[in-house]
Amino acid sequence: MSRLRIAGLALTALFAVGMFTSAARAQSGSAGGEEGVAAAEPYPNMPSIPPIGVRTGKYFDVPASAQGPAVDPAKGYRLQDFGGGLYMITDNQIQSMFLVYDRGVVVMDAPQSYGAKIPEAIKEVAGDKPITHVIYSHSHADHIGGAKALGDVPVIIAQDETLRLLKRDADPNRPLPTVTFGDKYTLHVGGQVLELTYRGPGHAPGNIFIYAPKQRVLMVIDTVFPGWMPWRRFAVSQDVFDEFARVEDVRKMDWDTVVGGHVTRVGTHADVEMQSEFYRDIKQAAATALATTKIGETLNPLDKGNPWAVYDNYIDRVAAQCVNTLTPKWSTKLAGYDVFIWDQCYSMEQTLRID
Ligand SMILES: [Zn+2]
Repeated sequence: MSRLRIAGLALTALFAVGMFTSAARAQSGSAGGEEGVAAAEPYPNMPSIPPIGVRTGKYFDVPASAQGPAVDPAKGYRLQDFGGGLYMITDNQIQSMFLVYDRGVVVMDAPQSYGAKIPEAIKEVAGDKPITHVIYSHSHADHIGGAKALGDVPVIIAQDETLRLLKRDADPNRPLPTVTFGDKYTLHVGGQVLELTYRGPGHAPGNIFIYAPKQRVLMVIDTVFPGWMPWRRFAVSQDVFDEFARVEDVRKMDWDTVVGGHVTRVGTHADVEMQSEFYRDIKQAAATALATTKIGETLNPLDKGNPWAVYDNYIDRVAAQCVNTLTPKWSTKLAGYDVFIWDQCYSMEQTLRID
């Protein structure tokens, strides 16, 4: 029903829904597939932000605090110089890095979207130096699916779990690592150093921290989202509590700039503090909602014998309360709050209830 409010055309929409329901019933005939599916009154205190699967007319504006420098549309990427031969390359959706040393270049991730442009970006600042190494942050295609476009690179470094997953995926665009490690690997090339560490599965098995000590830049992908709501379901983390622990690791470490791998800009310690605070708040909001929401309340009595329905109704109301608790404080602080807050609340309640 909340979709009606969003459309702002309650009567028209109500009429349309009515039409759809009757049409579906007429079509289903004796098959019975639509039997019993009926629109209901919304849950009490339903948030005005549309829940998952309901179209949004206009998402909240992106606050200036979350904006980054513009990308030149002719090039399709921008470079950010961290000094000491280290650069970020981004299309303002995805971020990766490369490090120039005396005899070549080390590339850290090669995104699907602009991997083929990385050689051109390197040429801008390092001339014809060859790419001698690629480091994979983790196995996901959005971050390394452009690796093949870099040509045959002699050394590809990743964590053991990344090799396992890439063998399974057998994707020709993501060549297998040639060097793997468990917990720690330090790369020395020319006078440059990169410290790679694996601290746990968080977002995905094999997702590593990459630290450039000379430049004081830390790259941790799909874990910190400077100025932004994290991607849905805490960046589709396989282990949400572990992902939260990784944010705490980033928070406590000593660095000047963090590269999170997505959205519009690099991050500061203030950004990570804010994300950490948001995670504490959502954990508290979901825990309170789980404890104070009564199972079975508002359920149609005809559904009492359907355990899936009983929990669907309960979890919906927990998520709605979680969204309501967080919106006053967070809706203007994090860009994209409205886009994924329902996903985060559903993910948080599940994590607290069963993990
Ligand atoms: Zn990922």
